Amino acid sequence: MNTYDTCIAGAGGVVGSAILRNLSARGLSVIGLEKHDGPARETSGLNSRVIHSGFHETRGTLKSRLALDGSRMVTEYARHKGIRLLNTGMLIAIPRHPIGAGLWRELDSVWRLWRGGKAQGVEFRWILSRAGVRTIAPIEASGGIFIPSVSVIDVMQLVTSLQRDALENATEIRYGAEILGIDVAGDRYVLTTASGSFASRSLINSAGLGAAEVSRMAGGPEYAVERIRGEYYELRGGMERWNIRTLVYPAMPGRSRSKGIHLGPRTDGRLFVGPDATPADSEPTPKDVFVRAARNFLPQITDADLEYAYAGIRPKYGSDFQIRLDRTHPPLVNLIGIDSPGLSSAMAIAEYAGSLLCKTIRDGERLQHSFR
Ligand SMILES: Cc1cc2nc3c(=O)[nH]c(=O)nc-3n(C[C@H](O)[C@H](O)[C@H](O)COP(=O)(O)OP(=O)(O)OC[C@H]3O[C@@H](n4cnc5c(N)ncnc54)[C@H](O)[C@@H]3O)c2cc1C
Repeated sequence: MNTYDTCIAGAGGVVGSAILRNLSARGLSVIGLEKHDGPARETSGLNSRVIHSGFHETRGTLKSRLALDGSRMVTEYARHKGIRLLNTGMLIAIPRHPIGAGLWRELDSVWRLWRGGKAQGVEFRWILSRAGVRTIAPIEASGGIFIPSVSVIDVMQLVTSLQRDALENATEIRYGAEILGIDVAGDRYVLTTASGSFASRSLINSAGLGAAEVSRMAGGPEYAVERIRGEYYELRGGMERWNIRTLVYPAMPGRSRSKGIHLGPRTDGRLFVGPDATPADSEPTPKDVFVRAARNFLPQITDADLEYAYAGIRPKYGSDFQIRLDRTHPPLVNLIGIDSPGLSSAMAIAEYAGSLLCKTIRDGERLQHSFR
């Protein structure tokens, strides 16, 4: 059996694909294993497609650092490769509530976001009037914050481009290869999959919703990961009908588990409302929640304008990404809880995880050398 330098579990996701590209460019022989028959079939293909600036993240977290770096990397990469990228900007808007507790809550949230975004050095501007809002989007809002650098991307084009780059180096990708068992045999992992067995000298676990299970199979730590579902409705008539070309987000309270149900233009001209954030095993969220969220900004919307589109599930483990070297011999790097903004951060996550692995391999080689 051929032994690869490293194996990526979950190679069909955007993070796995970015890691494949990163490690293959470093000259390692890489095998990527993916359980589905094609790319981006799970969380990576069922999200909002937003390349976040890091504005929403708490300073000092891994998420804030990787979102900031990753969003710049992926924007540059997409421009270079001709991947569809729509520079929408993001308006975090305060709806036109009557003065009262609601308005103060919204103002407090915007203020908190502003402090965080400013600390991160993300470029933005205050919009202080209804007329100012209307120069950005024809919505009902009394003001907010506008972040011009934010874009939406064609995820499928991104993932296939990252994989194409990796395949030009010493990389293989196996689809339909669900990892069913992992043995540690001396200095190697032997992975049993639905389509054969593979051996590698190290393992990067980027299996998204399956990452806790892959860690367990590899003899790594147990992680209790939550699954949070986000549903989307499509607005009939798309961007053209509603004349919305900017992402319109609500200002969410500090402890919120999501960035809120927003109006989301896409690179293909479609327009979506979503996502909510509920435990994956809960009942579907009533349509009315989405209608009301959309009507906050577009009061003319009726129930008939929204059509159910899709739902995505993200893994949640605490409030930050966990990218950990959980074993050194043979190296195991676990990526746990890669929720939003994992798409925006993917290329920076790949650089981080790739450096962690390569440093471990180098340290191991130095150690072996000094014992000789
Ligand atoms: C509703 C929603 C909205 C979001 N919006 C945004 C956004 O706008 N911007 C943003 O930056 N982020 C967003 N995110 C987060 C983003 O989608 C994720 O962080 C990102 O897609 C994670 O990519 P991944 O490659 O880690 O995971 P995945 O795409 O889930 O890839 C993991 C892969 O591992 C495979 N796998 C699992 N188990 C096994 C196994 N045993 N053997 C082989 N393969 C296995 C899976 O099939 C899957 O293809 C959103 C997420 C959700 C759910």
